[in-house]
Amino acid sequence: MTGNGTRVGVLALQGAFAEHLKALKRLKLSGVEVRRAADLEGLSGLIIPGGESTTIGRLMADMGLRGPILRRVAEGMAVMGTCAGMILLAGKTFDYPLEPLGLMDITVRRNAFGRQVDSFETSVTIAALGATPFPAVFIRAPYIEKAGTGVEALGRLSDGRLVAAREGKLLALAFHPELTRDTRCHALFVGML
Ligand code: GLN
Repeated sequence: MTGNGTRVGVLALQGAFAEHLKALKRLKLSGVEVRRAADLEGLSGLIIPGGESTTIGRLMADMGLRGPILRRVAEGMAVMGTCAGMILLAGKTFDYPLEPLGLMDITVRRNAFGRQVDSFETSVTIAALGATPFPAVFIRAPYIEKAGTGVEALGRLSDGRLVAAREGKLLALAFHPELTRDTRCHALFVGML
């Protein structure tokens, strides 16, 4: 929570939620761990972390969080999905056995980079973050194969693959911004609240 009452939640079912809470702390925000529907009340924004999208998706359904998240988004809650979180935000997915939340008009391909390049770090130029490229960490990452006309492309790899996009109050990142000390992605999201 901040002085002005902005509350940002981090879905804390599985994956890199602790690192997102640390990133929020560096921005002088203390995040709220979200595990139950009641935790969503009063949040301006929610971060869905990277991890294992099937596990997060299953736990989300088991904990009765799916409907409440969709309802809070309809009420204006912003969402940032990183890596597995981006898969959950998608309207359509490839290689994901569950139904994503369907919040963004994007088609996301899961585990899109193949085994040889399981993990890599590369600089991604994201104009919305300024001129300095972002040090993006990709771990068995997805990418956005198709985006609707209402989706703003924010960042691409050098081969043209779309890895960062925004649609209204929804922000999708294929990489892990919480694993670097660069807080500009989190600051961008906080600015969207
Ligand atoms: N490959 C994972 C999945 O499909 C995502 C990896 C990650 O979030 N770092 O769920």
